Amino acid sequence: MMANLLDDILRYNHTFVEEKGYEPYVTSKFPDKKAVILTCMDTRLTELLPKAIHLHNGEMKIIKNAGAVITNPSDSVVRSILVALYELTAEEVFIIGHHGCGMTGLTGDRILEKAYKRSSEAESIHEHFEKENGAAEWLTGFESEEENIKESVDALRRHPLLPDDTRVHGLLIDPETGKLDLVVDGNKEKA
Ligand SMILES: [Zn+2]
Repeated sequence: MMANLLDDILRYNHTFVEEKGYEPYVTSKFPDKKAVILTCMDTRLTELLPKAIHLHNGEMKIIKNAGAVITNPSDSVVRSILVALYELTAEEVFIIGHHGCGMTGLTGDRILEKAYKRSSEAESIHEHFEKENGAAEWLTGFESEEENIKESVDALRRHPLLPDDTRVHGLLIDPETGKLDLVVDGNKEKA
């Protein structure tokens, strides 16, 4: 029989709840450290990032996407950050990219090519979607992790809805050692 991850998860979860495995994690939705993190979905960071920065349940909001990128001023990342700042008592933002990110050098054309191969839609539907949505650009990553962090910090700081006194920091983490490099110090460099 093929391994079934969903079944594994549901079985484990049943025991977890029954044995009250949740008890050490009980907290509130308000982040105790009054901060929000935007970071990458990279699997190496799942446990490493919280450990490397001494982060526990209930302390900070974490938003993840591919590359820790702010794509545009009205994307869902910015919306999440604004919700954290206005509704959930966060006061500062950490944008944490990492070395060796899969979004480096990724081209939208490469993804589209794969998508079309695995799709039953007609070519005209692909072309229509691509034209309407600028899909090739939308799917493209970045040239440099450090530049991406600087640009994402700038994009957030320039945002008209960001509270004036919000500190926005930019960092890069080593996905093996957890070592942080400071790219933008939001305590020194004001918006
Ligand atoms: Zn990444």
